[in-house]
Amino acid sequence: MAVSDLCTKFPLLCIPVSSGQPHSFSGFISIGDIDYAVYLSTPHFPLLKGLTLSTDAQLSSIIHTCQAQLSEVEKTCSTVLEYLIKFQHICSSSQRREQDVEDLSLLRSSHLRSLLSHLEVVGWSRVTQISPDFTSISLEARDEKGRSHLLQVRIGSGYPQEPPCVEADMPLGLKVSWNSVEGLSCIVSAWEDQLKSLQLFWDVLDELDEMVLVLDPQNPTRRHTTRRILLSNHVSVQLCVSVAHPRSLPQCHFLGTSRLTAPLNALLTEKYEEWDPDRSIVSNLEAILGVSVVKSRSADSEGMAEEWSAECAVCYSLHLEDALPDLTCDHCSQAFHVQCLYEWLCNLTNSRQSMNVIFGECPYCTQLISCKVPS
Ligand SMILES: [Zn+2]
Ligand SMILES: [Zn+2]
Repeated sequence: MAVSDLCTKFPLLCIPVSSGQPHSFSGFISIGDIDYAVYLSTPHFPLLKGLTLSTDAQLSSIIHTCQAQLSEVEKTCSTVLEYLIKFQHICSSSQRREQDVEDLSLLRSSHLRSLLSHLEVVGWSRVTQISPDFTSISLEARDEKGRSHLLQVRIGSGYPQEPPCVEADMPLGLKVSWNSVEGLSCIVSAWEDQLKSLQLFWDVLDELDEMVLVLDPQNPTRRHTTRRILLSNHVSVQLCVSVAHPRSLPQCHFLGTSRLTAPLNALLTEKYEEWDPDRSIVSNLEAILGVSVVKSRSADSEGMAEEWSAECAVCYSLHLEDALPDLTCDHCSQAFHVQCLYEWLCNLTNSRQSMNVIFGECPYCTQLISCKVPS
């Protein structure tokens, strides 16, 4: 009975098969989350009298920290089972105390102390993520328009004498003059000042994203200064919006067949002075170039976006890995990925290749089209 009680309570302890009487047990006792190997000699089982316990160095050091308590318990218990239950309990709480002391001593180290006081100033409500060792912190700020911005901070062991590495989702890198007394809070105030100064830039880009069909980047973030938009069928323009003067004429690079892009370039050169900073980029482009900009699906009430397709006519998609349909047919203006058109032409029996250019029929209008062999 006493043996089965013991085995129910400590299932990892076994009685050596050979012994008739359980004068010894070996196996494991769980302390906290860890199973420690033990060997018990119990000459008077089930009585506690004469018990000796051998174990590894780790459990021995735990036993050492609560030796006095264990000796007390040994005096009051009469059976092995009774003693082991209390032994397990005392060692578990002693192990927990050790861990707490370790955590605390980590927190007491000076760099963590100053980091915590700096975080206190910044405000814990701004912290969206923090790693358990306090080396990586994500902070969030909302600007006047309610846009959310993120700042990644990596704290090194030299903090606060050494500035942390920071990464903000902004078009220009975050400029901070580091001050070890203010620490993290001087980064946050520099970040907020720069967020304020970029409001107009993001207003302009948000307006653009809302109105037009953006081909690239696929998922713009707050650091992107460029947008590739569709102007009219098969001509797109890469706009690079000025960070300092977002309402001024952006850098424009037209993409499409030269027959269609050349007149647009000429118009822009001729009429760039008509750019009106009080109007949106879209209405300026439309007024100066005399074309309509393809509106986004949400902004387009007449379903024009469907019709103004920018997709490659071979694979029917816009993005082929990182490539956009950059090659257009001079006759029908249909756009293709270079890779798609090349493969198409290679498969035609009447195509011919000269040096690194292949000639054949346009998959759309069957007129002559050529493309360079992709590298
Ligand atoms: Zn394609
Ligand atoms: Zn064609």
